[in-house]
Amino acid sequence: MSRNDNDPSSLHPATRLIRSGRDGDLTGPFVNPPVVHASTVLFDTVANMRPGGQRYGYGRQGTPTIEALEQAVSELEGAAGAVLCPSGLNAVSTALLSVLASGDHLLMADNVYGPSRDLAKSVLARLGIETTFFDPRDIDALPSHFRHNTRAVYVESPGSLTFEMTDIPKVAAIAHQRGARVIADNTWATPLLFRPLQAGADLAVVAGTKYLSGHSDVMIGTVAAAPDSWSQLKATHQALGLCVGPDDIYLTLRGLRTMAVRLERHQKTALALAQFLKGRPEVERVLYPALSDDSGHAIWQRDMSGASGLFGVVFAGWSGEKTAVFLEALRLFGLGYSWGGFESLAIPAHLHRSAMAMPPQAALIRLHAGLEDADDLIADLTQAFTVVAEL
Ligand SMILES: *Cc1c(COP(=O)(O)O)cnc(C)c1O
Repeated sequence: MSRNDNDPSSLHPATRLIRSGRDGDLTGPFVNPPVVHASTVLFDTVANMRPGGQRYGYGRQGTPTIEALEQAVSELEGAAGAVLCPSGLNAVSTALLSVLASGDHLLMADNVYGPSRDLAKSVLARLGIETTFFDPRDIDALPSHFRHNTRAVYVESPGSLTFEMTDIPKVAAIAHQRGARVIADNTWATPLLFRPLQAGADLAVVAGTKYLSGHSDVMIGTVAAAPDSWSQLKATHQALGLCVGPDDIYLTLRGLRTMAVRLERHQKTALALAQFLKGRPEVERVLYPALSDDSGHAIWQRDMSGASGLFGVVFAGWSGEKTAVFLEALRLFGLGYSWGGFESLAIPAHLHRSAMAMPPQAALIRLHAGLEDADDLIADLTQAFTVVAEL
């Protein structure tokens, strides 16, 4: 490999994370790409103003900063191409709008991120796209949900708040046989630990707001496409007029370079917290596919090369009030939405399910293991249990 050869395919994921998107033509001798603030791009000639006349034509359509992150994501995902969106939820809507049209039917896993579900029930429904929610643990039953007009299957593995794993290769085989595309929200694993396109999905969505940027200071989303879905994704993204500010792209690229070491630590701490919680009499179940007795462990072990730091905890018979006292007693875990940053977080679960049995929602919380010392976090959980015991 020459000094400037950036072919990533033969490299391990952690090395790819460092090398990807670093096109010498964009960065020159610098390690990082320029942060280009641009709307207008100037042309030398009228002829060059025609489509394809010069490499850059307008700020929304591409800059060296945009290309650096798009290339990085595309290489990490093993994709034909990738686009950047102003939030993770917008990456979800862009992926869905790139494959669906009025009159189509969508199959959506019952355990997806709540706002993805709301999107299907509001905007997609208004456009004449009907959605059926299915139980993603029972893929043998998936063929029975197909209709003549089913064009897409949307999954998220592990699922939001309840962390069930989905057999994506199996979903892809079933969907492709029936002419439907598969969209996978891969925010939990990131393309470092799982590559949905290699497992058969057509589009991979990531809320870069979480681990890619990794510091709780950016809203961004990415969609990567397999060859057959790329031109439609790119055209939809362009038609919708989507773009992301250069500073947020730069922060995401900066975050990406350290994602492997961060995820290693997030996983190690999450496992320590999960083991601790499993040993507590107040805890009924810990929902984390990296645990050997988790119902999704076999699929997780087969498909993913690691776990991130987000998991669920079900307390034994606790009321919502008791759960709230526990959450408010925590000092190192902030109460806040989103995750994937350096800090530990906790939230009470608000679940929306229609095809799966609802777990005891009042007793369910979600924890994000941050980059603090695990012993300090365990001490924090211990003192919160003591506060609840004194109720
Ligand atoms: C947070 C999240 C999103 C949405 O990302 P935003 O950047 O907050 O819009 C989508 N999917 C999953 C699984 C998420 O956790």
